Amino acid sequence: MQNSDAAQKKNILKTQVAIIGGGQSGLTLAAILGRHGINVICVDRDPPALHQSENFDLRTTAISYGSSQVLKAAGVWDILLGDACAIKDIDILDSDSPVLLKFLIDDVQKDAFGWIINNRDMRIALQEEISKQDSVNHIAPDQATAFTAHDDYIEITLASGLTIQADLLVGADGRASFVRKHANIPTRKWPYNQRAVICTLAHEHPHNNVAIEHFKAEGPFAVLPMSDDQDGTYRSSLVWTEEYDGSRYADEHSLMALSDDEFNAELNKRFPKFYGHVRMISQRRAFPLGLEHAVDYIAPRLCLIADAAHGIHPIAGQGLNLGMRDIAALAEILVDAHDRGQDLGAEDLLESYQRKRRFDNMAMAAVTDALVKIFAVSFPPFRAARQLGLKAVDRINPVKRFFMKQAMGTSGLLPNLIKEDKE
Ligand SMILES: Cc1cc2nc3c(=O)[nH]c(=O)nc-3n(C[C@H](O)[C@H](O)[C@H](O)COP(=O)(O)OP(=O)(O)OC[C@H]3O[C@@H](n4cnc5c(N)ncnc54)[C@H](O)[C@@H]3O)c2cc1C
Repeated sequence: MQNSDAAQKKNILKTQVAIIGGGQSGLTLAAILGRHGINVICVDRDPPALHQSENFDLRTTAISYGSSQVLKAAGVWDILLGDACAIKDIDILDSDSPVLLKFLIDDVQKDAFGWIINNRDMRIALQEEISKQDSVNHIAPDQATAFTAHDDYIEITLASGLTIQADLLVGADGRASFVRKHANIPTRKWPYNQRAVICTLAHEHPHNNVAIEHFKAEGPFAVLPMSDDQDGTYRSSLVWTEEYDGSRYADEHSLMALSDDEFNAELNKRFPKFYGHVRMISQRRAFPLGLEHAVDYIAPRLCLIADAAHGIHPIAGQGLNLGMRDIAALAEILVDAHDRGQDLGAEDLLESYQRKRRFDNMAMAAVTDALVKIFAVSFPPFRAARQLGLKAVDRINPVKRFFMKQAMGTSGLLPNLIKEDKE
C-alpha cells in the first residue's frame, strides 16, 4: 500500500487487511491471518463484552471436522474441544415415522461426526486469541459507514471518525452486510416463512451423543447434544422450526408467545422418551429463516465471506461450516501472497478466491433449499415415497457413506496453515 498525504493525519490507520464484522467468521479470519504475521484491523459495531455475555447468542453450532481444522489454524480448537460435545450418532425422522435413517460413528471409524460448540465460547476464545496477537487490532464498538476503492488501497470510514487504509477489505458483517450493499453487490433471496426458535434444555437421562433431526411439514425439529453442565446436568440444544410469516396472527400463535410452563409441556409431548423429562434452562430466541446469496463475492479490493456472501436454512447445520471453508480458501491465498510479498488486494487473488468458493456455496444452498421444500410436503403419497427414499439410503452403504462424509466435511483443508502454539 502506498503512503498518501492523508495517511499522515492522526486519525488514519493503515493495515494490510481490514475485516468489517467481528462475529465468528470475522474473528476466525483475523486470528489465522494474525498468526501468519499479516496486519489486520477487525471492526465490530458491538462492544466485545456484549458478545461474551450469557444471553447475547444462545445458539450452538454443529462444527464439522473440516471446520475444526480451520479453528485449529486460528489457534482456538484445543480450547474449544474442552467443552465441545462430540456427535457420535445421527437419527433422522420424518413426520410421524420412527427413525428412518441412522448414521453410526462406528460405520465410519472416526471419533465423531462433528462437535456441538456454544457460539459464545467460540467468540470468547477467538477474542482472547486475537488480543494476544501484535499484528491484529480489534476495534469495537465502531462501524463502517462508507468506503472507496482506489488503485492501490481501499479507504474505509468508521462512525467514530477513524479512517482505515487497507490493501483489502473483507466483509464479514453477516446477512444484512453493509459492505455488500455499499459495494452494490446484488443478492438472490427468498424467505421460507419459517423461523427457528432456539434454547438450551436440561433432561433427565443422558443423550448418549445422539443428534436428532426430525423433519416436519412446518420445518425441522433438531436436538443437538451438549456437554454436561458443571453440576452434571444433562443438556441439549433445541432448534424448533415453526411457520412464521411475520403477521400478528403468527406472533400470537408462535412458540415465542407460550409461557415457560406451556412451552415445557409442548416440549415433553414431542420429545423422544429416552431423554426422560425435559425442561428449558435458558431464554428462547427466534431467528427468521431465508436464503440469500450474493451474485458476486468480490469487487475492487474487496471480498465477502460467510453470511455476508451466503445465508442458508439451518436444516443441515452447514451455514458457518461453509463460512469456515471461505475462510480457509481466502486465508490460504492471502498467506501465500504475503509470503511472496504480493499486494493482498490484487484482482487475480480475489478472482481465485471467488472461483474456489462460489460453486461449493451455491451447491449447498441448493441442497438445503431442496431439503426444506421436500420435507414441507405433507401430501400422503409423496410423504410415503420420501420415507421409502430415506429407508433406501439407510440400506445402501455407499450412498449412506457419501452422506456421512458430507456431514463431516472432511475436505483436507489447511494443513499448511496450522501452526502449533509456541510455549
Ligand atoms: C437457528 C440457527 C442455527 C444454526 N446452526 C448452525 C449449525 O449448527 N452449524 C453451522 O455451521 N451454522 C449454523 N447456523 C449458521 C451460523 O449461525 C451463521 O452462519 C454464522 O453465525 C455466521 O457468522 P458471521 O460471522 O458470518 O455473521 P454474524 O454472526 O452475523 O456476524 C456479523 C458481525 O458483523 C457485525 N457488523 C454488522 N454490520 C457491521 C458494520 N457496518 N460495521 C461493523 N460491524 C458490523 C455484527 O455486529 C456481527 O458481530 C445457524 C443459524 C441459525 C439461525
